[in-house]
Amino acid sequence: MLLYNSLSHTREEFVPNEPGVVRMYTCGPTVYHYAHIGNLRSYICEDVLEKYLRYAGYDVRRVMNITDVGHLSSDADTGEDKMLKGARREHKSVMEIAQFYTDAFFSDCAKLNIRRPDVVQPATGCIDEYIKLVSGLLDKGYAYISEGNVYFDTAKLDEYYVFNKHERENLLAGVREGVEEDLSKHNKEDFVLWFTKSKFDDQELKWDSPWGVGYPGWHIECSGISLKYLGEYLDIHCGGIDNAFPHHTNEIAQSEAYIGHKWCNYWFHVMHLNDETGKMSKSKGEFLTVSLLEQKGYDPLAYRFFCLQSHYRRTLVFSFANLDNAAAAYSKLIDRIAALDPEKGTVDEEAAAPYRQAFRDAMDNDLNTSLALTAVYDLLKSGLSDSGKLALIGEFDTVLSLNLLSAAAAQREKRQAAPAATEADAEILALIEARTAAKKAKNYAEADRIREQLKAMGIALTDTPQGVQWSRI
Ligand code: AMP
Ligand code: ZN
Repeated sequence: MLLYNSLSHTREEFVPNEPGVVRMYTCGPTVYHYAHIGNLRSYICEDVLEKYLRYAGYDVRRVMNITDVGHLSSDADTGEDKMLKGARREHKSVMEIAQFYTDAFFSDCAKLNIRRPDVVQPATGCIDEYIKLVSGLLDKGYAYISEGNVYFDTAKLDEYYVFNKHERENLLAGVREGVEEDLSKHNKEDFVLWFTKSKFDDQELKWDSPWGVGYPGWHIECSGISLKYLGEYLDIHCGGIDNAFPHHTNEIAQSEAYIGHKWCNYWFHVMHLNDETGKMSKSKGEFLTVSLLEQKGYDPLAYRFFCLQSHYRRTLVFSFANLDNAAAAYSKLIDRIAALDPEKGTVDEEAAAPYRQAFRDAMDNDLNTSLALTAVYDLLKSGLSDSGKLALIGEFDTVLSLNLLSAAAAQREKRQAAPAATEADAEILALIEARTAAKKAKNYAEADRIREQLKAMGIALTDTPQGVQWSRI
């Protein structure tokens, strides 16, 4: 399998440290607010990676942290703790909002068929690990204490900017979110391992440490949790592209300085989902969450389908018109699978082989999910028996996780239960008219809702250049 590795900027053959086993770490959410659908794009793509590795026969051990302390407003260690800001916004304690948004995150994940990693570790549960790491780094001379805080000394490294050399110029130009400079650092690149002093003295969660009462920096959390559960040899580390610098760069610096050898072989970064105005945000405009999509009548899996239609290494632009297209395509795909008769024919392994190969080739090529979807369409068009097609679709869906079989089966059942629509033609025509009007008014969610309503009545629509045609399913 070829995977793009941000460390080498090339696609590389994936070879894990231990044959047959993949140790995989994912930066989890900062639980100060709901996840936006951009965050969830990263988790969908990482989920597909994990599931494909399992499909390919690997024993995957995946660990995720939950950031509930230490992630400051700027990734460059300045500003207020995001958790504290969230708690203040909602007049609750940090632990209360951490619990609430952790649950909300996993509820969103469940709706998107994102598997829960094998280990999910809140950062506040591993303070001893961080203290051990920071002590080790101080002992080895990779860290120093200044004005009460413990900093990592990047000047001790041969190479700090492992992903992108240009980051240095950006950093030195001071463009990173216009933050105030921390004058206690020896070098601009240095970062905090343990805070005992920050401008914000009202930090709610603090722990005793050899350097005084304080709290860990964000970066040390991921190193500590990963080393604790996955050991010193990590195969894949995942995250959104914004995590590459400074977060992952700092994780590598401190982990490798501590263990004394290379830590992680493959860095998997998902490009951003942007809205039409640019960067997705939790504060500006309409805050795009899974719940908002549901309120607007979308099936969350239509969003998963939307993500799978494009490659994880391409920036994806979200708009409701784009989502409408994906929702319509997803719904049509389910229709086509529902039209297959599970009782028809037998499973012919030899005939299935090239279609399985096409799916694997697509996924082996740096997780090309859109080509993998094409493999599903090609399979549907093929001469394989209905039951043969369904067997393969079920197999592919262990990776795609689009409920392809269960949604199609539910549709078949509904169709059987639907009353004969002989006298309902006028109602059908009225609904079609209402849908056409909704489309004209660009109210695509309403148009899709009507399509779904008709589908539930056993009516399928086809948009043709001559207008809408309908037929009984
Ligand atoms: P956070 O909760 O801010 O720590 O982010 C959770 C995950 O979402 C991280 O892996 C980020 O890199 C990722 N992320 C943040 N914004 C986006 C976006 N617009 N598109 C895709 N992933 C994102
Ligand atoms: Zn992390």
